Amino acid sequence: MSESSHIKLFIPGPIEVSEKTYKAMCRPMIGHRSGDFKKLYGGMQPRLQTLFGTNRPVFLSTSSAWGVMEGAIRNLTQKKVLNGMCGAFSDKWFDVSKRCGKDAEALQVEWGQAITPDLIREKLSQGGFDTFTLIHNETSCGVRNPLPDIAAVMREFPEVMFIVDSVSSFSTQPIPMDELGIDVLLTGSQKALALPPGLALFSVSERAMARAATQKDRGYYFDFVEFAKNQEQDMTPSTPCISLIYALESKLDDIFTEGVEARHARHAALNAKVHDWVKARGFEFFAPEGYRSLSLTCVKNNREIDIAEWVKRLREKHRIAIDGGYGKIKGKTFRLSNMGDETPESIDTLLAALDDTLA
Ligand SMILES: *Cc1c(COP(=O)(O)O)cnc(C)c1O
Repeated sequence: MSESSHIKLFIPGPIEVSEKTYKAMCRPMIGHRSGDFKKLYGGMQPRLQTLFGTNRPVFLSTSSAWGVMEGAIRNLTQKKVLNGMCGAFSDKWFDVSKRCGKDAEALQVEWGQAITPDLIREKLSQGGFDTFTLIHNETSCGVRNPLPDIAAVMREFPEVMFIVDSVSSFSTQPIPMDELGIDVLLTGSQKALALPPGLALFSVSERAMARAATQKDRGYYFDFVEFAKNQEQDMTPSTPCISLIYALESKLDDIFTEGVEARHARHAALNAKVHDWVKARGFEFFAPEGYRSLSLTCVKNNREIDIAEWVKRLREKHRIAIDGGYGKIKGKTFRLSNMGDETPESIDTLLAALDDTLA
């Protein structure tokens, strides 16, 4: 990769990857059943468990997040799944549930709105459900669903497994899996963790593991029981993306050197910086106050600028990539990421480039 061809990514995934991370990936291969691998994987467990807020093992899947999102449905839904839907990724989870041959029901709110605890209670009270899927931070439209309040409602329905996607929020704020009673917490590598794509991380509660063990047709590649069995020996079911696991180890060093709480505070501060810019420039937010993502900002194009043209100018003049809106809100919104290794200086550079090209 030559310097001049480098476009810095402020799109909300994949995001910018550091030189340090790329270097970590260049270490020589090791056997995935070797002592070296077990040391690598086992050695990361305590820090991964801290980030997940769990005493349960953390599994590594060589797949993007969708592998585990589909896997969670295949492992856990026996009766009927309720899919909380408020944007592109959460809408798709409903479609994926049906493609797995499951009985699925939509809990749809308008894109940009949050899924509220009351809506969930109302649906689950109808009965018949044994799984609920929630995307904590809906990356497509910048909505952050009220996870602690939703978790409180889930405790009223102990027969329903609570599956949470934290792909774009993981490690940017606390998500204490055990305390919240989350049954499956999953994330991917290329968003909040600032790694290249190709790795998914997840943890499964004891009761969800017990459910999975009684489930037929779990398949093989995403079989939770296989993951658990291999995990006992610090291994993965099949040959994992070892280079990405090196990268993850390096990223854990970064995270724990900075400090987990300092990392959370940094994300909040950078997000606030972007929010100040949005307000000062007369733009509006796509999500309502109180439900806005802390790791990215989805901005409403109320100034009716030509977003596609602007994105192009930014790329050509400043070698910066931002997102011009996802799916049906393309051109009506734009998104700015503050995930990963960003700093006050790098966000200032982004905002100055936005100003320079907005005129
Ligand atoms: C990007 C994203 C996904 C899908 O991730 P893949 O890596 O493409 O499988 C799922 N959920 C959320 C919230 C995302 O942002």
